Amino acid sequence: MSNCIFCKIAAKQIPADVVYEDDELLAFKDINPAAPVHLLVIPKQHVATLSECNDGHAAMLGRMMALVPKLAAEHGCAVSFDGQGEPRGGYKTLINSGPDGGQEVYHLHLHMYGGPRPWKGQR
Ligand code: 5GP
Ligand code: ZN
Repeated sequence: MSNCIFCKIAAKQIPADVVYEDDELLAFKDINPAAPVHLLVIPKQHVATLSECNDGHAAMLGRMMALVPKLAAEHGCAVSFDGQGEPRGGYKTLINSGPDGGQEVYHLHLHMYGGPRPWKGQR
């Protein structure tokens, strides 16, 4: 998609702070972070929205989600359990879909928000 900002990021036509890349996926820092750690995971191939996905996209969607714990560990927000079994750390994952879902960029992306609360715009 010639006019898609995330396709342009995937093609390295515009800069982004890339934190992970492979043949299929790219992860980079959100330009307007809503949390101390705010990353976006995208497929390099253009998919406008989750509503365009079907069983044929299941492997790609699974890889997007499976990347999150790796990114969380690398950015200091993995979930751990202390000696009493109390959970620590953590993050939120979110896919906004369509105008009623708050989607602003029409290239599929998964948000990962992490870091100590409270965050700006905490949900
Ligand atoms: P949405 O509301 O579509 O789920 O989220 C789009 C996200 O993309 C927003 O959090 C916004 O800050 C981020 N974003 C928009 N344009 C750019 C850009 O050019 N570079 C980066 N790194 N993030 C962007
Ligand atoms: Zn795109």
